[in-house]
Amino acid sequence: MKVRKVRGTRDILPDKIRKWQYIEKIAREILENFGFQEIRTPLFEETPLFSRSIGEATDIVAKEMYTFKDRKGRSLTLRPEGTAPIVRAYLENRLPTPAKLYYLGPFYRYERPQAGRYREFYQIGAETIGSDSPASDAEIISLTMTLLKKLGLKDLILQLNGAGCRKCQPDYKEALKNYFRKKLNSLCDDCKRRYRKNPLRILDCKSKGCQKYIAQAPAISNYLCEKCKATLEEVKKYLDILKIEYTINPRLVRGLDYYTRTAFEITSRELGAQNAIAAGGRYDDLIEDLGGPSTPAVGVALGTDRLILALEREGVRLPVEEGIDVYLASLGTRASKKGFALVQRLREKNLKVEGSLSSKSLKSQLRLANKLGARYVLILGEEELTKKKAILKEMATGKQKKILLNKIVEEISRKVG
Ligand code: ATP
Ligand code: MG
Repeated sequence: MKVRKVRGTRDILPDKIRKWQYIEKIAREILENFGFQEIRTPLFEETPLFSRSIGEATDIVAKEMYTFKDRKGRSLTLRPEGTAPIVRAYLENRLPTPAKLYYLGPFYRYERPQAGRYREFYQIGAETIGSDSPASDAEIISLTMTLLKKLGLKDLILQLNGAGCRKCQPDYKEALKNYFRKKLNSLCDDCKRRYRKNPLRILDCKSKGCQKYIAQAPAISNYLCEKCKATLEEVKKYLDILKIEYTINPRLVRGLDYYTRTAFEITSRELGAQNAIAAGGRYDDLIEDLGGPSTPAVGVALGTDRLILALEREGVRLPVEEGIDVYLASLGTRASKKGFALVQRLREKNLKVEGSLSSKSLKSQLRLANKLGARYVLILGEEELTKKKAILKEMATGKQKKILLNKIVEEISRKVG
């Protein structure tokens, strides 16, 4: 039997990994600059953590979770998102407030695989727990835009909305019900279910048939309470200060029930409106809902896979470092033993070095050096050993010179370092 990878999962192979590493490195730098600290939570949690926080009527909980029983019959779920686990960890470990936390890693949702949509996908996210200042909302948005721009994306669209709170959402839901009641027969089956359970969810439907009606649906702007209105106005002001452009989309709600007040989504023209690169918002009730004291919070999650897709489609070339510094080619047993030691000493100088571990012909060693993208090749043979010299060849120019064996480490670190 041939075992294959599970549908919707991928192996990220060495030819692609530099891109991932580069993105993760820049993300960490920017997140740390913004004052966030990394947190790592388990890949699986007890199921109620997600079902209670994300909402029973959401697509994630209704049909996308990987839920299974462990050997003791406990219901566990592979994390479909990062916010609920972080809130759990924040409460369980009594982290100091405000807590500014970030994460990177894989998430799991049972979705139909397609470009930019996988069953195992990656997110980079940040949460500010314990701040009700709209400046925190703007900071979260700013950090996301900073990262996307730093990586070279240009065609970005930031959509912003006030998604309401427990005070004003009920009236708005009523208004949506009144509006969709007459259109119920034309909506998709999912939306018929959403209509009964949580009509807000209809606004997040991706089917073309429903989109038509969603575009004409009542806007939440007319239903927001004073506090929600004021928060939105303040967030807008802070974004103006940072010169971050946005468009208000009064029908933007997001696919998770815990969002209150601020909701936003960042899309790129290359991926289209159906495939947001990043999204987030406020969740001022979630911490209390999960058993903690009333604590305001705001966060964002960025889809790394979609980010990479957008970079590829925009033709952005990331400045990733390819290749190695030195390839050491050796001929003969004595030279190869000497070379083995030399490789180690060069590596100790923090250089990327590879050397032949078997006695291949010089030609095949040079071919390998080329394939590995070596900047320099060091050639060591019997004759060189006798003269206590080696040949250093610069691959880009083809220039060769002889250097003394006891000067090699020094010379190469100077050239490469
Ligand atoms: P969508 O509306 O595209 O299904 P979502 O609202 O379910 O997204 P969030 O839960 O807000 O997405 O997740 C934040 C980001 O994670 C998304 O904007 C997207 O970039 C990424 N993402 C979500 N689901 C997937 C997936 N199955 N595969 C790849 N990336 C994903
Ligand atoms: Mg989704």
